[in-house]
Amino acid sequence: MVRNEDKKSSERSYRSGLNRRAFLALTGAATGFGIVPSSVAADYQAVTDVPGFSCEKPQFTCGREVRAADGMVSSVDPIASAVAATILREGGNAVDAAIALQYVLTVTQPHGSGIGGGGFMVIYDAETGTVDIVNSRERASRNAEAVQFLDEDGSVIPFIQRIQLGEAMGVPGTVRGLETARELSGSRPRQRLIEPAIKLARRGFTVDAFLASQIAAHTGKFNEAALETFTDDDGTLFEAGDTMTNPDLADTLQLIRRDGAEAFYEGPIAADLAATIREYARQPERVVDEEDLAVYDVTLDEPVRENWYGYELVSQPPPSSGGAIVYYILKLFELLGGEEYGIRSPEKYHILAEAQSVAWADRNAYFGDPEFVDVPLEGLLSEAYLTERADLIEIGSTVYDLPGWATSSQPGNPWDFQPMDAPASAELSGATTHFSVVDRWGNAVSYTSTIEQFMGSGKMVPGRGFLINNQLTDFSATPVGPNRVEPRKRPLSSMSPSMVLADGRPILTAGSPGGIRIITATAHAILHSVVYGRDPLDAIVEPSVFTNHLRPVHYEAGVPDDVRAQTAEWGLVWGNVETHGNVQVIEIGDELIGAADPTRDGQAVGFDRTGGRRRGRGR
Ligand code: GLU
Repeated sequence: MVRNEDKKSSERSYRSGLNRRAFLALTGAATGFGIVPSSVAADYQAVTDVPGFSCEKPQFTCGREVRAADGMVSSVDPIASAVAATILREGGNAVDAAIALQYVLTVTQPHGSGIGGGGFMVIYDAETGTVDIVNSRERASRNAEAVQFLDEDGSVIPFIQRIQLGEAMGVPGTVRGLETARELSGSRPRQRLIEPAIKLARRGFTVDAFLASQIAAHTGKFNEAALETFTDDDGTLFEAGDTMTNPDLADTLQLIRRDGAEAFYEGPIAADLAATIREYARQPERVVDEEDLAVYDVTLDEPVRENWYGYELVSQPPPSSGGAIVYYILKLFELLGGEEYGIRSPEKYHILAEAQSVAWADRNAYFGDPEFVDVPLEGLLSEAYLTERADLIEIGSTVYDLPGWATSSQPGNPWDFQPMDAPASAELSGATTHFSVVDRWGNAVSYTSTIEQFMGSGKMVPGRGFLINNQLTDFSATPVGPNRVEPRKRPLSSMSPSMVLADGRPILTAGSPGGIRIITATAHAILHSVVYGRDPLDAIVEPSVFTNHLRPVHYEAGVPDDVRAQTAEWGLVWGNVETHGNVQVIEIGDELIGAADPTRDGQAVGFDRTGGRRRGRGR
C-alpha cells in the first residue's frame, strides 16, 4: 500500500488501457440506457457538519453519481463520505479514508454498523497488485453451544426474542479490524482517523431521514441507554434535521484513540460490554464475556478470486457465502450465454432467477466458518462443477420441476470436483452498510460492515454510546448443519464486498447491505455494469430479481409485466415487489465514477486536486 510519505515517488496514472468498452462491443451488449430521472442523478446533499469540507469547494464533487480524477468515496452517509474525501485530500490513502469513514458511521449511522459489530474489508494494494482481506466477523463465546437458540422443550426460540438475547451477541470485531487494517496498509495516525468521529459525536451531527426512521421503528427493542441516546433533552425521539450528540460514544472513541484496540477489548469498556451482554442472556455462563473479548482475533483471508468474462471477480470467502455465491450466479450466467439477451428480456431474468435457486441449494448445504467446516470451495467454484449445475437450467422450464427439487433443495456434489479428500462428515450434511474508497494511487477498499439487524440487538452499552450486534442469529437456530453454533465460531454471512479486476487492476468495486439479498443486489450491479455497460448509478437502479432454493421470485419495480408473464409460462412463480439492498459502486477507468444507491440517503464524493479543471464536473 502506498504510504503517505512516499506518495510522490509512487504517484502514477494507472487508469488506462482498460478494454471494457471494446469487450462490450464484442459481446453486443447495449450501452447508455439511462433510466435514472435526471433530478435524482444531479442532486447532492450539502454537508455542513465536517470542518474544512464543502460540496461547493472545487476539489470536491458530491452527488448520487459523480466523476473525479484523484479519489472517490461512495457510502450511505454524505457526512461519512465527506470525512473520507477530506482524508484523501490530506494525502491519506484508501485504507485511511475507509477507517475514518467507519468510525464516523458508528456515530452518524448507528443503525447499520459500528464498533459493536463486525465486517469484511477487501483491500487492493496498487503498489504490489495484491488483495488483502481483513475479516472482523463476530465470534461466538468459547462457552457457546449448538442448542443455545432452543427452548427447554427443544423448540426454536422465536426470532423476535432471539434477536434481543445475550446469546445473539457476538464478540464485536470492528475495532480490531480497523486497527489491523491501519497497521497493515494505513499511512495516517490512528488519532487523525478517529478525530472526525469524536468531533461529530461530541458537537453533534444532522440526523438524516433514514436514521430518524430507524430510531422510530426500533424503540421496542431499545434498552434504556439506547432510548436515552436517541432522544433529545425533552425526551422526544430524534427526527430528521435534528442535531444529535452522543457524548458517551465520544468518550469511548477517545479511549480507543489513545490506547488503540486494547481500550475496547480489555479494561472498563470490555467489562461494561460483557455486563450488558450478560444482562440479556438466558444462560449467562454461555455468552460472550471479558475473556472472549480479550482473545478476539481477526483473520486475514484469501479472497475468492475467479475468472468471469475475461475479468477477475474478487470477493469475500467463507465465513461469508457472499463472494462465492455472487461468483457462482454470475458464472452460471456466463456459462449459459446470458449476455446474448437484453437487459430487460425474459431470458435474462429467467437465467438469473434459476441461477440463484441452484446456487442457494449449495449455499445452504455447504457453507459455514472454514475454521470449523470444510467448505469445498474449489470444487464448488470449479468450471466443471458449475457447468454441471448450469446444465440444470433451461429457458422454457424451471429447476423446481426437476424430480425432488420441491421437497429438498437439491445441492450438487462439489466434493467430486474438490482436489482434497472429502471428510465423511461433509457428505451432504446438512442492517449493514457497504462503502468503497479509491485513492489517487489506485488503492481501493470495498468494505461491508454490520451490526446484523437495523440497530442490532437494540441494546446499547450504558455510558459507552454504542449498540451491540445480534450477529449470532446468522447461525442456524437448530443444532445441525455446517452453520450450527460452536464455540468461538463465526456465523455464516451473505456480505459480498467485491471488486472486478482487469489485467490485475480493479475496474469496479461493489457491495451492499440487505441480509440474504446482499448477494442478489451485488451480483446484479456487477452484471449491469460489466456485461451490460451501464454507468454505475444505472447499474445499481436497474431492477433485480431475488429468489433462493425456495419459491417464489421477488422482484424490484421495473421488471416488465410481459417478462413476468413469459417466465411464468416457463414455470417461475413470482412473489412480491421489493427493494434489494443499497449498493455503493465505484467504477475505475480513465476517471473514477462513484455512485450511491438512491434507496437511502447515500452520496458519492469525488476528489480532484485541480478542482475539476482537467475534466468536466460531475453529472
Ligand atoms: N448479518 C448479515 C450478514 O452478515 C447482514 C445483515 C443485513 O445486511 O441485513 O450477511
